[in-house]
Amino acid sequence: ERREYDYLIVGAGLFGSVFAHEMTKRKKKCLVIDRRNHLGGNVYCEHIEGIEVHKYGAHIFHTNDKKIWDYVNQFTSFNNYINSPLSFSKGKLYNLPFNMNTFYQLWGVKTPAEAKRIINKQIETYGTKSPENLEEQALSLVGKDIYDTLIKEYTEKQWGRKAVELPAFIIKRLPVRFTFDNNYFNDRYQGIPKGGYNTIINGLLEGIETRTGVDFFEERSILEALAKKVVYTGKIDEFFGFKYGALEYRSLRFEHEILNTDNYQGNAVVNYNDKTYDYTRIIEHKHFDFGKQDKTVITKEYPEAWTLKKEAYYPVNDHKNQEIFKKYKEASMCLENIIFGGRLAEYRYYDMHQIIASSLTKVNQVLQKETIG
Ligand code: UDP
Repeated sequence: ERREYDYLIVGAGLFGSVFAHEMTKRKKKCLVIDRRNHLGGNVYCEHIEGIEVHKYGAHIFHTNDKKIWDYVNQFTSFNNYINSPLSFSKGKLYNLPFNMNTFYQLWGVKTPAEAKRIINKQIETYGTKSPENLEEQALSLVGKDIYDTLIKEYTEKQWGRKAVELPAFIIKRLPVRFTFDNNYFNDRYQGIPKGGYNTIINGLLEGIETRTGVDFFEERSILEALAKKVVYTGKIDEFFGFKYGALEYRSLRFEHEILNTDNYQGNAVVNYNDKTYDYTRIIEHKHFDFGKQDKTVITKEYPEAWTLKKEAYYPVNDHKNQEIFKKYKEASMCLENIIFGGRLAEYRYYDMHQIIASSLTKVNQVLQKETIG
């Protein structure tokens, strides 16, 4: 039986685009489809008023891995943007991540020793040896003042649950520093691609056949018959018709506004901690690229309960959902000609650099298997 394509790639996000690129380089024929009417998945940007607007939330590229950095730099160069978000809480602005600037703003302390004294005393009073939820973890890591001012309400708003009902690991990714350093990430390489993320996606998919606005599940048998293998990057439970139950997510709603001012908030990202605001942050896109336009575009990010009809953003990695995921994972491993990968198929919270690495690894595995088999 002759099939037109080697790979049908379902989902034109970073995982699928990297996979298609690498396989095309090796003379495999790929077809990339996406349900949305554009390529790029959640890194997709739209030009509005000359500004690259991150339609699905702020994306800041960062990595410690020189290979991944060189990989993305094949398609465009990066500017020198460093993410330094602010957080607005109870009428005051604070620097993030938690560092000497934050401690000065909170307590007026000028030296690391003074800051450590306050934090250690609060950890002694409120912390525990083996934190079992996010609240205990935060109190044991940074003490009560920082938890109350910059963590509790933001986190409960973002996840729609009490901090005592959330897993501890969520907060472990936030750095705590005793230097005056507002860089949100510890990675060696960081920036925003010149020309926006679409430049990378277009570079990856150059010369590859793509079809947007195509729902895999509506034409499944026809589409599957086109290719020898399918690379599926959508929700894993949907692939199996939800036979073990639906996995849960947290959803987001983005409200974009064009404003008649050249500078609305003076920073790309300002978090809103208090629960009196329904949104968790306001993004002002032009500051990702040091834009000089007359107007500005801002986006308010509202966390939302997820339903099957809404976009799935954050996997809810609690025990119950992990157990369900395990069953789907086992089922997926029995399918020889379907390759699963990416945030939704792996039910994992991934940063962009991690997705690229995981797609490259998958390509190598698949090629190895093909030469053996
Ligand atoms: N967080 C917080 N206060 C903040 C920012 C983040 O408490 O001002 C916590 C919150 O629990 C959140 C987690 O840190 O879920 C990770 O946030 P980050 O902004 O790093 O992740 P993103 O949502 O951008 O993926």
